[in-house]
Amino acid sequence: MTNTPPVYMDNNATTAVDAEVLQEMLPFFSERYGNPSSIHNFGGGVGKKIDEARCRLAGLIGARPDEIIFTASGSESDNTAIRSAIATNADRRHLVISKVEHPAVLNLARHLVTGGFRVTEIGVDAMGRIDLDELSSSLTDDTAVVSIMWANNETGNIYPIERIGALCRERGILFHTDAVQAVGRIPMRLSELPVDLLSLSGHKLHAPKGIGALYVRRAVRFEALVIGGHQEGGRRAGTENVPGIVGLGKAAELAAERIPIENSMVRALRDRLESSILASCPDVSVNGDPENRLPNTCNISFGYIEGEAILLSLDIHGICASSGSACTSGSLEPSHVLRAMGVPFTSAHGSVRFSLSVQNSDADVDRVIQVMPGIVAKLRAMSPFSPEAPYFQNASQDTCPSGGSCS
Ligand SMILES: *Cc1c(COP(=O)(O)O)cnc(C)c1O
Repeated sequence: MTNTPPVYMDNNATTAVDAEVLQEMLPFFSERYGNPSSIHNFGGGVGKKIDEARCRLAGLIGARPDEIIFTASGSESDNTAIRSAIATNADRRHLVISKVEHPAVLNLARHLVTGGFRVTEIGVDAMGRIDLDELSSSLTDDTAVVSIMWANNETGNIYPIERIGALCRERGILFHTDAVQAVGRIPMRLSELPVDLLSLSGHKLHAPKGIGALYVRRAVRFEALVIGGHQEGGRRAGTENVPGIVGLGKAAELAAERIPIENSMVRALRDRLESSILASCPDVSVNGDPENRLPNTCNISFGYIEGEAILLSLDIHGICASSGSACTSGSLEPSHVLRAMGVPFTSAHGSVRFSLSVQNSDADVDRVIQVMPGIVAKLRAMSPFSPEAPYFQNASQDTCPSGGSCS
């Protein structure tokens, strides 16, 4: 890799902390280190800054400040929401989720099965869309909570939150949504939506890692996951991550201003990237719902080659993207999201996700467009799977494009 800064198109994995966010955080690591719970003025000033952050975040999602609980991550928010929902509906033993949830919801739900809960995982069609009739008919008098994500981290698909929430409300069932990918990218007014619980995470919207929040609608009963001191109104114990909270507040304020940019400039960059790859590389297809997708996300399957091999080649050119298959994390299983969509095994293995942000530029897109056709042609020529490959008749271990780690 060269010394030029990378072209970063992996913003659904994490985002850069915005320079203004960092500036706002810095004093809370140094001179303003007081504990917000202290009686003295030194701590109290810090407490006021937390109040301000809570108001800014409430403003971004159209909620009231007292409906926001700061947590340590999106995963913690998901766990707190679902565990609270089942604890406050102790006579109900059924949960409904989708097959394309983030592991923070999916693996928690599967874990709860070992504790005697029944979980229905709603399937998706080839574009990753949920069947609302299937969802509706899965609801029973025993259902404690429905948890369906607002936007999918791999495909960018946006789910019909208002309609899902309405179905739940009709039946008196709590509705939680993992909105980690949606907050700051699409506008939302929770005061006008049938959503009871919502999770978000700082590091997906240009705040730091290790700070998240949970929205709990005012009338909804709540049981804390972390029990101890009286922080967060007794709803989440532990001395506050003050710099993180201040950073998330500033990031929320910036995101509120930038949502229109996300939906114009970022969308235009993504669309140009996508259409150029489709036009210049044969045997490629877009995964997801083109009608209902986050403006920043593009998930493409490249036939006959592996996502990892493409990522490594892109990395050599200083381009950061990510793959739908999980070979790099030590598993040969392709993405559970693409598998749920019925994407054929080989195409799922050959998927690459580009996720942009307001920090990307036209020059970034140009750089990717410039190298992509060459990378694809070169890998296909080596691929034992490709019909055009010279080695097709006699594939051997050393022709594996990712160096033999993955087949
Ligand atoms: C990143 C992500 C999470 C987890 O958030 P963390 O703060 O990293 O724990 C949960 N859900 C979705 C959809 C995500 O993209």
